[in-house]
Amino acid sequence: MSSPDTQPPSLYAAREPIFPRRVKGAFRNLKWWIMAVTLGIYYITPWLRWDRGPSLPDQAVLVDIAHRRFFFFMIEIWPQEFYFVAGLLIMAGLGLFLFTSALGRVWCGYACPQTVWTDLFILVERWVEGDRNARIRLHRKEWDLEKARKRAVKWTLWLLIAAATGGAWIFYFTDAPQLLHDLLHLQAHPVAWITLFVLTATTFIFGGFAREQICIYACPWPRIQAAMMDEDTLTIGYRDWRGEPRGKQKTEGTGDCIDCMACVNVCPMGIDIRDGQQLACITCGLCIDACNDMMDKIDRPRGLIGYLALTDETAERAGKKPISVWKHVLRPRTLLYTALWATVGVGLVVALFLRSEIDFNVTPIRNPTFVTLSDGAIRNSYDLRLRNKHGEAHWFEISASSDAGPFKMALEGEPGLRLKVPANETKAVRLYITAPAGSSAATTPRIPLRIWVEDLGDQPGSEVTAPQPARERVAQDTIFNGRGH
Ligand code: SF4
Ligand code: SF4
Repeated sequence: MSSPDTQPPSLYAAREPIFPRRVKGAFRNLKWWIMAVTLGIYYITPWLRWDRGPSLPDQAVLVDIAHRRFFFFMIEIWPQEFYFVAGLLIMAGLGLFLFTSALGRVWCGYACPQTVWTDLFILVERWVEGDRNARIRLHRKEWDLEKARKRAVKWTLWLLIAAATGGAWIFYFTDAPQLLHDLLHLQAHPVAWITLFVLTATTFIFGGFAREQICIYACPWPRIQAAMMDEDTLTIGYRDWRGEPRGKQKTEGTGDCIDCMACVNVCPMGIDIRDGQQLACITCGLCIDACNDMMDKIDRPRGLIGYLALTDETAERAGKKPISVWKHVLRPRTLLYTALWATVGVGLVVALFLRSEIDFNVTPIRNPTFVTLSDGAIRNSYDLRLRNKHGEAHWFEISASSDAGPFKMALEGEPGLRLKVPANETKAVRLYITAPAGSSAATTPRIPLRIWVEDLGDQPGSEVTAPQPARERVAQDTIFNGRGH
């Protein structure tokens, strides 16, 4: 048995609470604006309406899980068109690669939901408990009435924000006004309540208590992003060749850094950027604002902390000018990401305009491959599945073409070759194709056959004499099995 002295050191370290100080400046303002815009889009989007006719939901953006469709304004994506979603995810990934290779972790610092909500929670915390020093005092204080009151107010406000967050998310999955009505009247589906509870709890914990730990330990992105960054990537850095040796202002031989700790005290990650680039840094720029403010006060040039690349560092140390920002941003790597991003985007737009409104497939029945009728004719059977993507019922006409025709065709359970499919539904029907006895098709083992489906619109009649708009017609190739000689 090992003695207490030889016990291995504990790998557990308790979280050190962080109390970011209020800061003013260009990057702080930019973060406020991005927070307002992203939260505004997030909260408003489910309430936007879009008229799609009587049979379809009028919510502009809706993930309709029950009917397995995704609505985005005038675009409707069906499950078999998942390549659109895949394309959008690829574009999002490439966009992230592009921004990371140009500007480091800007996503983390400005737009990531964890950052946005943590910022919001810190704002509430500062409003209730005061700025950094007051919060530290309160943290160290024994529990009393004042501490309990402030904590209760803060946690209640956090909880309301967290609930509103969960609420907004579930509104994307069903009709928002109806769901709000159901929630207020305690009539919502249990799934809605469970989702609301889970999202409220996770937002409350992540934004209120876990904060920087999510970024440092739980999120895989800081580890992945290193692959996208190189020596030309702009990121937050401390110009130690200018700041060191740090020391009190007007002390002879010291650099520009007066060791005021302002950059550390405003950092939401609780790190000291003067120690060099660190995995924990989310490049939010708040330390730049704090240090610039201090440089203004001591009448030194701004930029002791700033956006700079490793190549700038080398150049500046050698007394040269830094490379222009545009040269950092516009370089082969970022241009390649932009080109790939644009290619996928153009491809998706083209696919969107070229996609058919008719979706059908034909499956030949293989057991048996053909049936010989009493008059010697050969009959093949096919399973035909036809999806009506329109918001109202449509009629479709089935036909077939082949070099070895003619054929007789029939739809099981239908009087003719016209089929009515209700709005947004799929209809499965058995199709019979018969080649007359002795015909080329009947006596050839396998001949190519093309099945056509024509969209007749919401009326079945071909007797209409007025000019008709061009009807959509699509085909699928299959095989007709004859008996052979
Ligand atoms: S070091 Fe600066 S840029 Fe990095 S997280 Fe802290 S405040 Fe933000
Ligand atoms: S804010 Fe600027 S001057 Fe103050 S400690 Fe940080 S780097 Fe030094």
